[in-house]
Amino acid sequence: MTGEAHGEPAKGGRPPSVDALARSIADVGLPHPLLVDAAREAIAASAPASARDRAEAVRRALLKPVVNATGVLLHTNLGRAPIAVSLQGRATNLELDLATGRRGNRHVHAAGLLARLAGAEDALVVNNGAAAVLLACTALAAGRPVLVSRGELVEIGGGFRVPEVLATSGARLVEVGTTNRTRLSDYEAALAAEPGTGLVLKVHQSNYRILGFTESVGIEALSGLGPPVVADLGSGLLDVSTPWLPEGPPPWLAGEPAARQSLIAGASLVTFSGDKLLGGPQAGIIAGRADLVASCARHPLARALRPGGLVLQALQETALAYLRRDGRSIWFWRMATTGEAELRERAEAIAGKTAARVVGCTSVAGAGSLPGLELPSIGVTLAGDHAAALRRASIPVIARVRDGSTVCDLRSVHPDDDLVLAEALGALGR
Ligand SMILES: *Cc1c(COP(=O)(O)O)cnc(C)c1O
Repeated sequence: MTGEAHGEPAKGGRPPSVDALARSIADVGLPHPLLVDAAREAIAASAPASARDRAEAVRRALLKPVVNATGVLLHTNLGRAPIAVSLQGRATNLELDLATGRRGNRHVHAAGLLARLAGAEDALVVNNGAAAVLLACTALAAGRPVLVSRGELVEIGGGFRVPEVLATSGARLVEVGTTNRTRLSDYEAALAAEPGTGLVLKVHQSNYRILGFTESVGIEALSGLGPPVVADLGSGLLDVSTPWLPEGPPPWLAGEPAARQSLIAGASLVTFSGDKLLGGPQAGIIAGRADLVASCARHPLARALRPGGLVLQALQETALAYLRRDGRSIWFWRMATTGEAELRERAEAIAGKTAARVVGCTSVAGAGSLPGLELPSIGVTLAGDHAAALRRASIPVIARVRDGSTVCDLRSVHPDDDLVLAEALGALGR
């Protein structure tokens, strides 16, 4: 950057008008070099008056909190599970053992708590679920065959394709069975043909379902084959009995595989995301047999995929909430289990302040989790498509448009944001 932000004369023959124009829009509140970019683009487009709009567009595009009124509880475009992060401006004991004063291990805090929650011997945290699968396959099976059912060679959103992840890991994919039916005898035949098999990988189909004439092999049967079974659960449900929910497991969770039960069934490792049903920050968790977790942790790729202290702190908070059985403080579970009466009360309060009407709607889990789930919900609606105007609010509101009306589903809106939502709706047409 040149020094003009500090009042030095512009260098390199820049027309002085660029700098003057940039200074004239200083109130947009961006650092000077970004205002200069906007001014320069405006002048190049022979539209100097557009500099302010250009600068404001840049400021608006910065990462910021938004109100998720889409009803998609884990919206990948909106950062999936909402979490509270406190930036304290303080050092942490990220890799310091406070008892001995010696070098510690960033994998003990959050990972240790998650291992306990999942009933695993040990756990390791990496950047995301894809990284967890990649690391497990690389560390445990590079150069060796990995058996995967053809019904599980899935693509999860965002370019996570099981065959490509395996190719990247250096393991050799051995496809087993057919798209709709895979039997234990198929695995046995594949294993007999591939004696050096490193892993059996079981992938949760996550965002799709095969209905009808189907058959698949459970973890328990797979674990008897010999090679370690790695279950990529994706969603990160910790325990099917949901001890963190006072009312017990909601009926819509039925059939969703969980980390604890997968390990009990005989999986050597499970992998899952931190920001799906776990409700924490973006992270990937590898949990299970201590020797296999250690092999993953020792692999050079683990260093490249390691998360930072911010993520580990947020994940630790999430794990502590689970251990306190405090599902209300895990935002995903709070959204998913809020009763319709409470949502209706909030919707009525918003409708009372605006021209919006209360309306029934349906929320979904999102992030490829629990496909087909439709949670009855309550929102507010206004005739017409106001999605773009709501996105322009000072705290952007992300709404859905249905049959020509704008719908704001309150299940995915933090109750503290009801006023923000009411203000944004009230400002429409003003
Ligand atoms: C979501 C998912 C992944 C990828 O996890 P990210 O955290 O998005 O990287 C991998 N496997 C399965 C089965 C998933 O559902």
